Amino acid sequence: MKLTVLGCSGGIGSGRHTTCLMVDDDVLIDVGTGVTTLDFDALRRIDHVFLTHAHLDHILGLPLLLDSVGEQRDTPVTVHALPEVLAVLETHLFNWQLWPDFLKIPSPEAPWLRFEPLKHGQECVLGERRFHPVPVDHVVPACGYHLAARGGSLVFSGDTTRSEAFIAALNAIPDLRHLIIETSFENALADVARASRHHWPVSLAAEMASLQVRPKIWITHLKPGNEAAIMQELRTALPGWDIDALEQQQTVFL
Ligand SMILES: [Zn+2]
Ligand SMILES: [Zn+2]
Repeated sequence: MKLTVLGCSGGIGSGRHTTCLMVDDDVLIDVGTGVTTLDFDALRRIDHVFLTHAHLDHILGLPLLLDSVGEQRDTPVTVHALPEVLAVLETHLFNWQLWPDFLKIPSPEAPWLRFEPLKHGQECVLGERRFHPVPVDHVVPACGYHLAARGGSLVFSGDTTRSEAFIAALNAIPDLRHLIIETSFENALADVARASRHHWPVSLAAEMASLQVRPKIWITHLKPGNEAAIMQELRTALPGWDIDALEQQQTVFL
């Protein structure tokens, strides 16, 4: 399995893109502005999308993706997400007012978009790749994803703050090789992070203290302009951990 980072920033500007990870060439995890780095043929090959939550920085490329490739495809794009997340998309996005309802276009029998609700603990198998939603704690219903492939496991947190359920899920994955986890804010903005349920370096370090596995840590969702400062605070807070900032266009193999 090959994971390609199309976008991993907490914002935009100077080439930064928001969250979008590509698994091989047919699956996206979140559809932030990173999706715009794909050429048209690559966009057309996307069959499955897994969403962590419905916040705009994670979904804003989805309506444009469908509009761009829909009539060039023979099958709908399948969006996998928690039922609460799909309900938000149906009510507030694909409602004809903000964007057409691609669940019914060009016809309800053969639409360009279909929804596949996920439950925690439920596995979705695509070839040799297995996707499990894992619980996290954000201001809206959200999940992370555990990707299991022949070469081991990777977990992507999406947006979250401290979560005992998330750490318990990680500790139940003995072959966890990579953990992509967010740290949005520096320690001075801990109040903002707490209110918006994100991590800051001290909170991530407290979380990692309960981890019984020892994956490589990749930091994502760093706020633009503060990346270096947050990473420096993380290295101070987490001595001895193999920790780096996730980079756009980086690949991870499993
Ligand atoms: Zn969010
Ligand atoms: Zn976000």
